[in-house]
Amino acid sequence: MIGKTLKKTNHTPSLATRLAQALRFVDEETGAVIPPIQTTTTYMRDGDYEIRKPYWYRRDGNQTTAHAEKIIAELEGAEDSLLFASGMSAAMGVIEHLPAGAHVVVPRVMYHGVLHQFQTYAARGRLSVDYYEAGNLEEMASAVQNGKTALVWAETPNNPDWTVTDIKAAAGIAHAAGAKLVTDCTGTPPCATRALDFGADISFHSATKYLNGHSDITAGVLSVRETGTYWDEIANIRMLNGTVLHSFDAWLLIRGMRTLFLRVEKQTQNALAIAAHFENHPLVEKVLFPGLLSDPGHDVQMRQTGGQFGGMMSIITKGNEQTAIDVARNCQIFYPATSLGGVESLIEHRKTTSGEGFPVHPNLLRLSVGIEDPDDLIYDLEQALERANA
Ligand SMILES: *Cc1c(COP(=O)(O)O)cnc(C)c1O
Repeated sequence: MIGKTLKKTNHTPSLATRLAQALRFVDEETGAVIPPIQTTTTYMRDGDYEIRKPYWYRRDGNQTTAHAEKIIAELEGAEDSLLFASGMSAAMGVIEHLPAGAHVVVPRVMYHGVLHQFQTYAARGRLSVDYYEAGNLEEMASAVQNGKTALVWAETPNNPDWTVTDIKAAAGIAHAAGAKLVTDCTGTPPCATRALDFGADISFHSATKYLNGHSDITAGVLSVRETGTYWDEIANIRMLNGTVLHSFDAWLLIRGMRTLFLRVEKQTQNALAIAAHFENHPLVEKVLFPGLLSDPGHDVQMRQTGGQFGGMMSIITKGNEQTAIDVARNCQIFYPATSLGGVESLIEHRKTTSGEGFPVHPNLLRLSVGIEDPDDLIYDLEQALERANA
């Protein structure tokens, strides 16, 4: 078929194709297929002494950041996306835009940094916060107050138990009360879960994790189904706080996202193999992974990811807390480290990280499964479990 001209059709390239080519970037001047890094902080006024559009000062973004935002907006099916210097600063964009005393409903257990900020704002009297058990829609519905609640936050799958929340049902609950639904689907990036399609108003992601995928930048992103004055306010908070994503990090993110589909597919395969191997293991109490047929969130997660469950799971070991810590310490291929979503596998004793008082099972090990050979990963966990129990 070489040399045969492609027939002109109405064929639309898939998202995987669009991402691999960074939205088919071509430098008009040179033909380069990789975008440059724009580093300028300031822009010269035009001949009429007018500010040039759309950029005038770095704190409001630039071409490199905007290119990364465009890729994510396309991936999410969003009207617009905003990139921040970390996931936490993106979450703060949402929290800070709420009016004084606004009522919000959040999970009792979720990513500790975001939970900490809601609790801090509540303690200062800036917000009024009510809680629900992650994934429990009945509790969510009874925590929501008609006409009063401004925002419902849902993390799905939820740290560190990977409890699944039905986004469509959660959006129904939030919208019926006049509230907005914000989802944190960092564990299943938008190549797997497009939260806006299920009714979320704002989709939050720590782009530090799967979106970048190489554990070498921090970044956070918000994407919206519909822009409006509240969105302008969030953009203004980012501009005035100076929390826009750095140019070099935006460039690395564009590079990382080219392989997003490939990475998540492999991480899903590896995670499924590990979960199946350890599900009925004599030294393992329980495997928490929505990819398992036996997992209570499996059916909803199948619908919300199309089977791309990602690489996040937790293993509750038999024995005591020290046994679990020893398993993490004994690993030779999994790195004993925090964070997630990179190509390298990580293992973490979550209670040590979250600190005393955070309700997490003392024997819970959180795994971020990478793209290594699954046989090596299974072997590593086997030998670590055996030595911890010797
Ligand atoms: C990492 C993470 C965050 C915070 O993002 P940073 O990029 O570390 O600031 C928020 N939510 C979830 C689920 C995360 O994993």
